[in-house]
Amino acid sequence: MEQQSEPPSEALRAEYDELAEAVRKHRFAYYQEDAPTVSDTEFDELYRRLEELEGLHPELKSNDSPTQEVGGAVSAAFSPVEHLQRMYSLEDVFSIEELNAWLTRAQASVEKLGGGHAGKLKWLTELKIDGLAISLLYRNGELLRAATRGDGNVGEDVTHNVLTIKDIPRKLKGGDHPAEMEIRGEVFIPSKAFVVLNEGMIEAGKPPFANPRNAAAGSLRQKDPETTAKRPLSMYVHGIGSREGLSAASQSGTYDLLEGWGLPVSPYAKVLNDEDAVLEFIEYYGSHRHDLRHEIDGIVIKIDDFATQRAVGYTSRVPRWAVAYKYPPEEVHTKLLDIQVNVGRTGRVTPFGLMQPIKVAGSTVEMATLHNQDVVKAKGVLIGDTVVLRKAGDVIPEIVGPVVALRDGSEREFVMPTHCPSCGTLLAPAKEGDVDIRCPNARSCPSQLRERIFHLAGRGGFDIEALGWEAAVALAGPVEPETPPLRTEADLFDLQVEDLAPVKIEREKRSKGAPTGERELVPYFYSKGSPKKPSGPSANTRKLFEELEKAKTQPLWRVLVALSIRHVGPTAARALATAFGSMQAIRDASEERLADVDGVGHTIAAALTEWFAEDWHREIVDKWTAAGVRMEDEADENVPRTLEGLTIVVTGTLENFSRDEAKEAIIIRGGKASGSVSKKTDYVVAGDSAGTKRDKAESLGLAVLDEDGFRKLLAEGPA
Ligand code: NAD
Repeated sequence: MEQQSEPPSEALRAEYDELAEAVRKHRFAYYQEDAPTVSDTEFDELYRRLEELEGLHPELKSNDSPTQEVGGAVSAAFSPVEHLQRMYSLEDVFSIEELNAWLTRAQASVEKLGGGHAGKLKWLTELKIDGLAISLLYRNGELLRAATRGDGNVGEDVTHNVLTIKDIPRKLKGGDHPAEMEIRGEVFIPSKAFVVLNEGMIEAGKPPFANPRNAAAGSLRQKDPETTAKRPLSMYVHGIGSREGLSAASQSGTYDLLEGWGLPVSPYAKVLNDEDAVLEFIEYYGSHRHDLRHEIDGIVIKIDDFATQRAVGYTSRVPRWAVAYKYPPEEVHTKLLDIQVNVGRTGRVTPFGLMQPIKVAGSTVEMATLHNQDVVKAKGVLIGDTVVLRKAGDVIPEIVGPVVALRDGSEREFVMPTHCPSCGTLLAPAKEGDVDIRCPNARSCPSQLRERIFHLAGRGGFDIEALGWEAAVALAGPVEPETPPLRTEADLFDLQVEDLAPVKIEREKRSKGAPTGERELVPYFYSKGSPKKPSGPSANTRKLFEELEKAKTQPLWRVLVALSIRHVGPTAARALATAFGSMQAIRDASEERLADVDGVGHTIAAALTEWFAEDWHREIVDKWTAAGVRMEDEADENVPRTLEGLTIVVTGTLENFSRDEAKEAIIIRGGKASGSVSKKTDYVVAGDSAGTKRDKAESLGLAVLDEDGFRKLLAEGPA
């Protein structure tokens, strides 16, 4: 017996009406105004909920429900054009499970049709270009008119604008053209051209486009074709509407014909015979989506054969023979709560956006750098704006721009501070004309100090695990007590554990479920203590002191890195340590002598000389030396100099050496550990997952060693 569903409650009806209204409103902003006010993810969620409610209560669905309609309507700015054949949208799936279910269903429904349709389907698999749909009507090889999709039946006449797009031929090449055909495709702006276009917009004092799709839609739907002509629009074909006298039996076959006639057919489309290949295609472009000519938001999978397409047909909104797999979104909208500035290790003052925390591309984001005041201006963002936030894969998150339509007048402009927020010193550019401004109080600005402390404890420096970011903040301030334990890193090794008892840092106390919590001060290095158990240094604090003791015996190159001398990273530091052997020798060396060292050069030599010229810098070295930090590498007589004069590159993962250990093993034997493969390289040691460096070594005919070969080389040298 069929189960009768309960009629929808008043509250549910109200939710449904509100949702339908919201979807209509967002479609209007997106299709008519080319200025969406919510992200696609938010829109898709609303739309899915609407579909869900209609599924549960079909009586809610009316003929004018947004789920029965394609996209937008026609703007009064353009003449309406009736499409000869309707234009459709696509059914979306958001997971591989949903896609597999769709593919299985499609295959089964075709089997059911029987006759000539039964048999294994061929899938025409294409990139889902993030642009806007266009329909081009050709009669006997000549472009007659061009129209946007509109509501699917009636679109907007944009013929004059389309005539300015170089990719689209007015007259088709060759002969034997169909008497009439409607070519469907996507108009888009290539990714590189988009960057240039936005730079130009900013230069002209206009707000930049939030993304290439909006830019393409806004550029095509211009009243003046001359404006369109200036925009870098392109197009790829992805379908065909009404046709008369076209002989091909499949969509891919049609693409071949169209290409021959000079129409722009996407080079990425592929006919695939099985579902696994479709999944591979999706996976491949998922990790290569930013290497393409244009942006994509998914993959479209279509039944290739025309007769089968016709047999399975359409719903009121989408073809039943195609589906769009959508990749996880990379753009979301969130509130820009504030713009603050950070003072870096070298004193550079960098504005960054503080946002309502939001999940995007797999992680929660609440901060994004805004680089400098020119960038803030160029992006046109105000504090309080809703902003488009973009995070592409592993790339760092970026604030793209504001959603201007959502402003309510309460937003305010960011003003770059004139004084350092950390120490109050007047900020200034390092040189006249620099966009970056700096805090010149390098020695005692707490911000710069804590960044230097964090850096010196890093894996390329002293490698002190117990001294992470929070501990650096606790040591250098600004926290309680007002005078932090360290006023300069010179005193790092003189710290006493008792100095740390009163130190507190600010933490957020958040009760379960609350979006934000109150800030409170908590002891950092000592446990809180109770009448039963008196306060004492925490386990991490004890570890910190052990590690500080160990740090004193680290090799010279790590001490050099720890000093935060500009441009002196692990590679230059190693070269200096190998060439001079002691801090004193480096300090005494002339700039020319320093520059002569292989891997050092003039910039680094000048930075070193400049650094040692400062009294307070030399004081760091002196105090560390007095505290027992080893300032020279002992030449170990027991290690044979087997690698004298050899250049060796280590790549991939070795089982028994970390990358640093391998480099050190080479250097103490007199060899040079280099990072890049060239004709001058003598050996390449390739561990697991060695990539392009190994390939390059092989193409240059260099000797490539595995880990065993490397051990032998260390012990015996090239013999
Ligand atoms: P769609 O974009 O999901 O899919 C249909 C369209 O894909 C087609 O019309 C076609 O133009 C295009 N397409 C690109 N490459 C294609 C290919 N290779 N083959 C076939 N078609 C291809 O559907 P839609 O109805 O145009 O719009 C829905 C999309 O727009 C969703 O992503 C939605 O989030 C977004 N949207 C956002 C808002 C908002 O306010 N942010 C409002 C409305 C719609």
